[in-house]
Amino acid sequence: MIKKIFGTLYLVFILAQAPAQIQKTDSLTLMFVGDMMNHSPQIQAAYNAKNNTYQYTENFARLDSIFHQADIVMANLETTLGVKPYSGYPQFSAPKEFVEAAKQAGINLLATANNHSCDKRKRGIINTLYILDTLQIKHFGTYRNQKEKDSLSPLIIEKKGFKLAFLNYTYGTNGLPVPYPTKVNKIDKKAIKKDLIKAQSYKPDAIIVVLHWGNQYQNKPTKAQQKLADWLHKNGAQIVIGSHPHVVQANQMTMDSISHKQNFTVYSLGNFISNQRKFPRDGSMIVKLQLIKTQEAKNLQLIASTMPIWVYKYVKNLKRHYEILPVDTFQYLPDYFQKNTDYQKMMRYLKHYQKIVEKKSKQ
Ligand SMILES: [Zn+2]
Repeated sequence: MIKKIFGTLYLVFILAQAPAQIQKTDSLTLMFVGDMMNHSPQIQAAYNAKNNTYQYTENFARLDSIFHQADIVMANLETTLGVKPYSGYPQFSAPKEFVEAAKQAGINLLATANNHSCDKRKRGIINTLYILDTLQIKHFGTYRNQKEKDSLSPLIIEKKGFKLAFLNYTYGTNGLPVPYPTKVNKIDKKAIKKDLIKAQSYKPDAIIVVLHWGNQYQNKPTKAQQKLADWLHKNGAQIVIGSHPHVVQANQMTMDSISHKQNFTVYSLGNFISNQRKFPRDGSMIVKLQLIKTQEAKNLQLIASTMPIWVYKYVKNLKRHYEILPVDTFQYLPDYFQKNTDYQKMMRYLKHYQKIVEKKSKQ
């Protein structure tokens, strides 16, 4: 009896201590990759004439184990889907297998507003959304009509106790008009401000704004981009993710001096996959962002890191192949490459990445 009472008291004591001793911490891991391009040589490489099918699995297979460590993996889909005949530059249309393979590797969120959104006019926009919905890949940035945009934007994702709001905008659509009644979100401060107010009404842990912006092939963001990022942070977007220049640029983590809230900007993720072989367009990066929420801290804590990746293109049995390689691993495997010149190209990109991203990022 005494033993039992003592046992119960001990349990009460443990439970009373528990809240003070155990800090509840929630953590969510996001990964961001750049432009998913699908140039004509990639379409030819994916095509199997024997059974008239397309196979893109090998493009993303080497990233599978990395992506599966994250809760959300986002890319910029810089092609329309499903409109035949499939085509590369300048007006892109890719088979659905392109995104199916990306999903298999762990990509579960695609931004669709970019300068190629209108490449295949209304059919392209509608087919893209239809295919993404059918494959159950979350998407944001383009919509079938205003009513759909009103109900689906911002995209709210709830996972592991976190609520995130996603918005996506592009600087333009290569001079092509946005076909009525579809909607492609354009960078327009008035419209963005309205969307940010709507996003805040959901009381999310963070608002993430994905932008298609900047100057192509430049290693540094423009003053206008820096100003826009600051404005977005001031107006409630804690995380800004950019792409379009086809090359990587440095990331920036800042802290608001009054609220002590961290703000994070990725100016340019680079080409995630493409046939752009000219250095340094042949490589890009994975940006990993860990969101941490504790009971005590009023602000969300952000921990950012980056990983270099490089597109290895080679010919085997008279067929072209593309593989995105994590450079951290493959820099130690020169024998993996058919030609030493390919290995050297990857190492040249690594040096560039270290100079531009690792040395200059504030994270
Ligand atoms: Zn672009």
